Amino acid sequence: MGLFGGRKTIIVDADILVIGGGMAGCGATYESRYWGRDLKIVCVEKANIERSGAVAQGLYAINCYMGMQWGENQPEDHVRYARNDLMGLVREDLGYDIARHVDSTVHKFEEWGLPIMRDPKTGRYQREGKWQIMIHGESYKPIVAEAARKAATEVYNRIMVTHLLMDTKKTNRVAGAVGFNVRTGDFYVFRGKAVIVCAGGASHIFKPRSVGEGMGRTWYAPWSSASAYALPIQVGAKMTQMENRIVLTRFKDGYGPVGAYFLHLKTYTQNGYGEEYEKRWYEDTKALVGDYIDRHPVPTCLRNHAILKEVAAGRGPIRMVTKEAFQDPHKETVGWENFLGMTIGQAVVWASQNIDPKDINPELTTSEPYVMGSHATCSGAWASGPEDYAPAEYQWGYNRMMTVEGLFGAGDTIGGTAHKFSSGSFTEGRIAAKAAVRYVNEMGKAQPQVSEQEYRDLEKVIYQPLENYRVGRNEIVAGTVSPSYLLPIHGLQRLEKIMDEYVGGISTNYMTNGVLLDRGLELLGMLKEDMDHMGAEDLHQLQRTWELHHRLLASESVTHHTLFRKETRWPGYYYRGDHMKLDDENWHCFTLSRYDRNTGKWEMEKAPVYHIID
Ligand SMILES: Cc1cc2nc3c(=O)[nH]c(=O)nc-3n(C[C@H](O)[C@H](O)[C@H](O)COP(=O)(O)OP(=O)(O)OC[C@H]3O[C@@H](n4cnc5c(N)ncnc54)[C@H](O)[C@@H]3O)c2cc1C
Repeated sequence: MGLFGGRKTIIVDADILVIGGGMAGCGATYESRYWGRDLKIVCVEKANIERSGAVAQGLYAINCYMGMQWGENQPEDHVRYARNDLMGLVREDLGYDIARHVDSTVHKFEEWGLPIMRDPKTGRYQREGKWQIMIHGESYKPIVAEAARKAATEVYNRIMVTHLLMDTKKTNRVAGAVGFNVRTGDFYVFRGKAVIVCAGGASHIFKPRSVGEGMGRTWYAPWSSASAYALPIQVGAKMTQMENRIVLTRFKDGYGPVGAYFLHLKTYTQNGYGEEYEKRWYEDTKALVGDYIDRHPVPTCLRNHAILKEVAAGRGPIRMVTKEAFQDPHKETVGWENFLGMTIGQAVVWASQNIDPKDINPELTTSEPYVMGSHATCSGAWASGPEDYAPAEYQWGYNRMMTVEGLFGAGDTIGGTAHKFSSGSFTEGRIAAKAAVRYVNEMGKAQPQVSEQEYRDLEKVIYQPLENYRVGRNEIVAGTVSPSYLLPIHGLQRLEKIMDEYVGGISTNYMTNGVLLDRGLELLGMLKEDMDHMGAEDLHQLQRTWELHHRLLASESVTHHTLFRKETRWPGYYYRGDHMKLDDENWHCFTLSRYDRNTGKWEMEKAPVYHIID
């Protein structure tokens, strides 16, 4: 039997191809059907959309809801909030576009059966904070997935998409994607007129605090493997703000969320000696970022900064003061339920460490960095904005279309728009889908063509690690270290170590500089060379291999962006030791990159930030 003998090639045609069936992907699939009644809508997902993506485990709050029906907030308010939190740099057109539509998304969730808590006095949704509403969200994802399943013509679960396909007739136009079934090994070729990438963010780019047997315990989902970035990067789509990685302050060891604690339970933090510490670092922070420290609310990165400084000064650990709030039985219940709906692991960690938050103030810590576009950070693809709102320079096609024709994105995939969270990601999926349907309808007969040669060549590349292993394993008699292949776990650990030590991870206290970044790029380049020698023992390891490819390409992008931006814009997320201050004069701009897969070179440029809202 030849290398690919026994494996089927399955060719699927789609009008709209949605890659990734998480929050954004379900939104895109749902909305595609609304506007494209007769279109073939295909959603392809590497897990199972029933429980996939960052919301797999459930959530306790929807973090983006305006409450316009009650006059609580207006879309402009949300843009101001996100801009402030991101130290001035957001795509206001994209953010406004999500904010003006997000409430309708949340109302749909409720209609579909998501229990949203209500304030018994006002009858309105129970607020956790200005933007957050509280839900009984253990089944959030299955509820959202049901809507997508009913809307889709076909959902393909367990297919990892590895590459996009390009049109043979028109340069810079997408034509589909390829991948493999992680259970059967079958090779899938999707021919799509429009492609919407919704493949989530990236964990395990930087070395996590939990290593060894605990390495699956990261804050962001361990299965978020940077495909959202690598797929568009491979075909030359421009990326933005990839340096804007996020570091989260969370409960130690379980990464339990702190939002409900701060906002709803009104808990607060102290240093190891029971002292308030944030004010102590006011002058220090002001010297770095000027009056951004005086903004309200204090930007997330700057709150991290105070924690990092206090711990470095020897006064850790930082603790969340829960002892007071937990004396109130209602708050105690909310505190525990908050974990049961989305991070059960934190409750288990506390139980295993004899921590009852009624008696002990639990420790907080800062996480390793993650790359994503939907939380308090905005890495991702550079996308065209809404026709009625985006400045001319941000419009080159259809809403949420990347710089590659026919290639759309939403959620973590799209850059420049922080604070969309679960509801905003679904909403952005809907926005992208509406535009993609229009794109397909207006395309007429000029449809993209896929080259058989291209996908057959890719097929060889995709399955090669199985062959490398089959041949190379004969050279070892014991253990896992081979002279001729590299296992995915080894490659992943090597990647994480490079990113950690050279690009500003936990072991350098998030510090990097030009010299380190240059060396980091050299080392990433060497890892890239070795990727041809990956060995995969089975289909599971083949998936790990391709996840590593995607993480590596995204890491390269992060490193180039970090090198390009010669300032420290977000202290607390990372520091450029050679440019320690925020520099609005030169860097009040977006950073853009473009990768050329033929030469392996990256081009960097600046793009203006337009403040549309006062
Ligand atoms: C710990 C945690 C807590 C959070 N808390 C909240 C909260 O309280 N409230 C809130 O509103 N939001 C919260 N969020 C944010 C929210 O989960 C994200 O904003 C949202 O899920 C992003 O949507 P997405 O579709 O971009 O990514 P995801 O929902 O992660 O979906 C990505 C999908 O793509 C699939 N995929 C990935 N790669 C491939 C590939 N190569 N081929 C095929 N499929 C692929 C994945 O399996 C996944 O299904 C939280 C996130 C995390 C991780």
